[in-house]
Amino acid sequence: MQHYFGHIEGGYACIDDGDAHHLLNVRRGEIGEKLEIAEGEELFLAEIESIDPLRIRILEKIEKKRELDNPLLLAFALLKSDHNELIALKGTELGVSTFIPFTSNRTIVKPKEKEDNKLLRLRKIASEAANQCRRTSIPEVTSYSSFQELMSLKADRKLFAYEGEAGSSASLLSSMANLQKGESILVLIGPEGGFSEKEAKMAQENGFAFVSLGRRILRAETAALYCASIIGAISEEGEE
Ligand code: SAH
Repeated sequence: MQHYFGHIEGGYACIDDGDAHHLLNVRRGEIGEKLEIAEGEELFLAEIESIDPLRIRILEKIEKKRELDNPLLLAFALLKSDHNELIALKGTELGVSTFIPFTSNRTIVKPKEKEDNKLLRLRKIASEAANQCRRTSIPEVTSYSSFQELMSLKADRKLFAYEGEAGSSASLLSSMANLQKGESILVLIGPEGGFSEKEAKMAQENGFAFVSLGRRILRAETAALYCASIIGAISEEGEE
């Protein structure tokens, strides 16, 4: 069944022009075809009632969860474009709710503006991936942050992936102990050159806990997706 994000009003769903084009011209949608429409974390079964004009009638609500039970904010230092895109694409499939691309001491890529075409592309990738993996909400990709700005972000658990402390940091698994549904988790992943000691100290002073992602040094994009996988699995644990 095709899945689209839509706006629901008066028993009908409105989808944007690009999706309507996709539904009618690419997928050759026909009258009577059933669709899945997501809006605001809710999911609905719908049916194409007419093609011209396109009318999509809502039939019933579908009681299915597609989001994690814990909002996951993944802050990653900017990498080469294709690696940033990989994080947005795969992170969306894994359930990340907010991506926060940032610049830090050792990031090589330093955008001049808070937003640029590369950022818009990350948003598009996240939106398309959310559709493809049938999420009920599209993850947010925030505008670029500085490391400093990350320090004042609020979350129930604030984690700092730090290989510099390998051995003395808690493992990611143990830092997730006793996780309650709804608790938000913010994870910071450094650039290829890692975080500086000064940044690590600052993070500690601002309530971040150091976490180790295992015995090996991971590439930054692997580290980001490792965190999303482990946290996602723990968040969904115990589900029917
Ligand atoms: N400075 C390192 C590599 C940094 S890896 C070096 O070249 O030796 C990029 C980022 O991934 C790190 O800043 C960290 O946030 C995360 N990371 C990679 N492997 C990790 C590990 N084993 N434990 C904790 N964080 C890790």
